[in-house]
Amino acid sequence: MSTKVASFTESVIREMTRLSDAHGAVNLSQGLPDFPCPPELKEAAAAAVDGDRNQYPTTFGESALRTAIAAKTARVYPGWTVDPETELCVTCGATEAMVATMLALVEPGDEVILFEPHYENYGPDTVLAGARPVYVPLRRPDWTIDEDALRAAFSPRTRAIVVNTPHNPTGKVFSRAELDLIAELCQRHDTLCVTDEIYEHIQFLGPGGHIPPATVPGLADRTVTINSLSKTYAVTGWRVGWTIAPEWATRAIRTVHDFLTVGAPTPLQAAGVTAMELPATYYTDLAEHYRELRDTLCPALADLGFELREPDGAYYVLCGTGAFDRDRDDVAFVRRLVTEIGVAAVPGSSFYADPAQGADLVRFAFPKRQDTLRAAIERLSDLR
Ligand code: PLP
Repeated sequence: MSTKVASFTESVIREMTRLSDAHGAVNLSQGLPDFPCPPELKEAAAAAVDGDRNQYPTTFGESALRTAIAAKTARVYPGWTVDPETELCVTCGATEAMVATMLALVEPGDEVILFEPHYENYGPDTVLAGARPVYVPLRRPDWTIDEDALRAAFSPRTRAIVVNTPHNPTGKVFSRAELDLIAELCQRHDTLCVTDEIYEHIQFLGPGGHIPPATVPGLADRTVTINSLSKTYAVTGWRVGWTIAPEWATRAIRTVHDFLTVGAPTPLQAAGVTAMELPATYYTDLAEHYRELRDTLCPALADLGFELREPDGAYYVLCGTGAFDRDRDDVAFVRRLVTEIGVAAVPGSSFYADPAQGADLVRFAFPKRQDTLRAAIERLSDLR
């Protein structure tokens, strides 16, 4: 095993899913929907397979999909123009997009700033590029940026900062003021902004609530925007994502992507074109649907005694467990939830480099049918 890999701690999320299956628990651990994707997408994927679209795609993405992503981006964010020929690379999900970006643009010995808590891939992605993660805490209870800590985190070795908005696991949506601060620091320290916006359409602040960092003055020419079909269209298994970045960065990302995976599945890229062409109402309905799911789960959790801040976006709620877990042992608490209560969740320590920081937290995911959430709530009421 390489020393890089030996430094990774294995995700407990997979263990929770195994335990969940073994105990017949309601699985609110992993962020995947238990409802179908839009029927138009299934038809488009089936038609592409029927039409024998079975061979390697253009490595950096089929032209029709790149064109459709650029058009949809301009439609949703007027003023943001993306050249599909030079500024887009289609990848195998946001996961590959992030690894390819790090390998393409970060040097061994560089530092990459990550907010904590964070989606658990960012640390390993940074390490795979030979760089060192530098963590900046988001402060409870509102998960705000500590400006002094962020300023202090920048050094001459800082190559990139990773933003994730809307944010997994906290549900935070980065504000204009926070993004302006990040823009100021990125310019001052000549740093890249790598932003994961896979939950862009799942936000509850209304129109304009989500601000893509690439549209913030000072960031356009130094931002890599990562996105994917996974969450917006409920197709986490399709593995189609993309990067939008300036031409010089895209050239490097495409080169790495070519060696990593060659390309994302051809027929599912064809279905991606259909996804990009869905009407604006699809996105308003999507946000409303997730708002209803949030409003089913969060008040019930608060009522039981979990401490929480309602998420403004994404489809998770990160809760304090102080009322139930005096020992601050999140892994034992979550194990008990699965085996005795029958609900699977993710221990908070999964989202921190120092597990102690998240030892009194647990994350529940709500991309689930209403009856799934109600079954979970009924079981959780045994915690009383
Ligand atoms: N980024 C974030 C913040 C996520 O929460 C997830 C999945 O949960 C991913 C990326 C993975 O995205 P993809 O399925 O496109 O690889």
